[in-house]
Amino acid sequence: MTANLLDFDLDGLAAFCERLGEKRFRATQLFRWIHQKGATDFTQMTDLAKSLREKLSGSAHIQGPKVVSRHDSADGTIKWLFDVGAGDVIETVFIPETDRGTLCISSQAGCAVGCRFCSTGHQGFSRNLTTGEIISQLWFAEHFLRQQLGRDERIISNVVMMGMGEPLQNYSQLVPALKIMLDDHGYGLSRRRVTVSTSGVVPMIDRLAKDCPVALAVSLHAPEDALRDNLVPLNKKYPIAELLEACTRYQSSAPRDFITFEYCMLDGVNDQPEHARQLVSLVQAHGQQGLSCKFNLIPFNPFPASGLKRSDMPQVTAFAKILMDAGIVTTVRKTRGDDIDAACGQLAGDVQDRTGVDQRMAAQRQGMLGGIKVVVAKGMGV
Ligand code: SAH
Ligand code: SF4
Repeated sequence: MTANLLDFDLDGLAAFCERLGEKRFRATQLFRWIHQKGATDFTQMTDLAKSLREKLSGSAHIQGPKVVSRHDSADGTIKWLFDVGAGDVIETVFIPETDRGTLCISSQAGCAVGCRFCSTGHQGFSRNLTTGEIISQLWFAEHFLRQQLGRDERIISNVVMMGMGEPLQNYSQLVPALKIMLDDHGYGLSRRRVTVSTSGVVPMIDRLAKDCPVALAVSLHAPEDALRDNLVPLNKKYPIAELLEACTRYQSSAPRDFITFEYCMLDGVNDQPEHARQLVSLVQAHGQQGLSCKFNLIPFNPFPASGLKRSDMPQVTAFAKILMDAGIVTTVRKTRGDDIDAACGQLAGDVQDRTGVDQRMAAQRQGMLGGIKVVVAKGMGV
């Protein structure tokens, strides 16, 4: 088996070239051919010596993702499904806006965290993606779009690790992929335009701060532990107080940045005024330790197996107002690509039904909703 060069960040490629007896600057040239020009064929790389091109043909290849399908939304959003082998399918979504182009990338096939409101979580975990499988989503989308639009300059300006999977549970493969995104010889994206979204893997938040401090989004979804334990099971391991302390530490390595808290609005579960007030107290307590943050309220994308409902707009607006009146920057995420299910593992979920996790969750749901009812009733003073 020859090496897939998409698996290497620039340091990795330099080490590979050294093993072939080549100097580091050759790796830089090769890296630019791969990521800036989207080349797959060594014979195209005319500024590399013929002898090197021949060595590369014998020992390496550039293998992008295998497209299963493409879905184009009326609003310009594009969703691809990629086959990563053994029946696993992942998804990547491109969201064009007037001032930016955002690509939403997957980090795992499935996810082990098992959040109740997430269709990827309901599919269970299959495997970690390799660095090559992570970066090839950007490599493919960027060069596909350039070709389609007949443009030669950068189209994707922002990357969010918000597709399938928990990126910080695939840390060793994630970090080289992030480095390729940031590398001036790769995609040259600014640190603030690459966002890692996490359900809260505390030790890895600390490592990311040291290794590659990109923008951080934390999926909070609840203001207190009992409710968060139910919605995001990882909370039992890393409860809210520890998570917010990790966020404060993260910020000390990137002081001018905000942490974004994502909050999926679930009707009657976590969307009551009392929950918003609890969030305000939480942020104010941690704010004193120097945490600056903003909230992104996400309208829930319903799917039948979840047994949950999207909060209605007046509820979301009222919730946002409580946060904003307390001086917390709050946005409500626009739903994009609704007509192609371009959110959160939905289409890939239709393609495959893994391991009976759905049935297990359905069995637990009764208990979960019971638990939530108690919490809400307490909070509301009912
Ligand atoms: N595992 C990471 C990143 C992938 S999920 C994380 O949890 O942060 C990306 C975002 O989509 C998270 O904020 C997640 O909570 C949210 N999400 C998952 N399922 C959703 C759904 N059905 N509707 C709306 N948002 C959802
Ligand atoms: Fe995994 Fe994120 Fe989905 Fe939770 S929300 S199951 S962490 S992908």
